[in-house]
Amino acid sequence: MLHVDRIADLRVACDRARAAGQRVGVVPTMGYLHDGHRSLMRAARAASDFVVVTIFVNPLQFGPHEDLDRYPRDLAGDLARCEAEGVDCVFSPGVAEMYPRPPLTTVHVTALTADLCGAARPTHFDGVTTVVTKLFAITGPCAAFFGRKDAQQLAVVTRMVDDLNLPVEVVGCPIVRERDGLAMSSRNAYLSPGDRGAALVLSRGLRDAVDAIVAGERAAAQVTRMMRSIVASEPAVELEYAEARDALDLTELTVLDGSVLLAVAARVGGTRLIDNVNLRIEGSNVDADLGVLLAADDAPAPR
Ligand code: AMP
Repeated sequence: MLHVDRIADLRVACDRARAAGQRVGVVPTMGYLHDGHRSLMRAARAASDFVVVTIFVNPLQFGPHEDLDRYPRDLAGDLARCEAEGVDCVFSPGVAEMYPRPPLTTVHVTALTADLCGAARPTHFDGVTTVVTKLFAITGPCAAFFGRKDAQQLAVVTRMVDDLNLPVEVVGCPIVRERDGLAMSSRNAYLSPGDRGAALVLSRGLRDAVDAIVAGERAAAQVTRMMRSIVASEPAVELEYAEARDALDLTELTVLDGSVLLAVAARVGGTRLIDNVNLRIEGSNVDADLGVLLAADDAPAPR
C-alpha cells in the first residue's frame, strides 16, 4: 500500500492508475477509522481498481468553538486498517499541504445547507464541499464513497457534483451500527460509559418512528413528536433536531410519502451526535434502511 502526504505524489499515483485504464475510487475521511469507514473501503474496493483513502481533519469544516484540536487521531492504526481492507493508497496531508494559504475560493451549496446540521454549524458544509472538490480535483476519481450516516452531507455533495457536472459518481453506503444500534462515529470515542448508554435514545427514537410508520402513521408532525419525546426521555441528551424530510431535497414534509429521511441530532455530554434512517414509502409499502448492525463475531478492533 502506498502512503503519501504530498498532493503531487497522490496526483502522480492516480494519473498512473488512470493511464493504465484503472478506475480510481476515493473514500474521503477524517481518520480514526472504524467499521463504518471500513464498509466504505469495501464498497470502493468492489467497484474500483485503485482505491484511495484520504485522511484529513479538515479545519475548514470546523466552527470556531468545535472540537478541531481534540478530534481523535491515530494514523498508525488507520494505516493498518486500510492495509487490511486492500486499499491501494492512503493520502494523509498536513494542513499546510492542503491550505498553503487561506483559500480565497470556496464551494458553497445553498438551500440544502441552510438548516438541519447547517443551523448549528453554519460554515461546516462550505468546508466539506471545498475540501471534497479539492480531493476530486487531485484524484480524478470515477467514484467517491460516502456514508449515509452523514445524510445531509451526502445530499449536499451529490447536488454539488450534479450542479457542477463533476465527472464523479457519488455512492452512498449504509450506516454501520454497533450491536446495540448506536451509529458508529469517530466522536463516540468522547463518550463516557454513561453517555454511551444515554446516546442509544437516538437510534431507539428512529427505530420507534419507523415502527409507527410501518404500522400506518403518515403524519410527519406525529412522527417527529414521537422521536422528540423519546430523545427527551433521556436527561443526559440535549436534542438539537428531530425531523422528517424529503430524502433528496431535504424539504419539510407534512405527509410521509416517497423517499423520506428521518434525521436526529443531539448533544450527549458535550458530544454532538447525528443519526438517521432512510425510508421508501409507497402506499402501505414501507422499506426502511436501518443500516447494518455489526455481527456478534465482528467486534470493532480495539485501539
Ligand atoms: P468522517 O471520518 O467522520 O468524516 O467520515 C468519513 C466518511 O465515513 C463519511 O462519508 C461518513 O458518512 C462515513 N461514515 C462515518 N460513520 C459511518 C457509519 N457509521 N456508517 C457508514 N458510514 C460512515
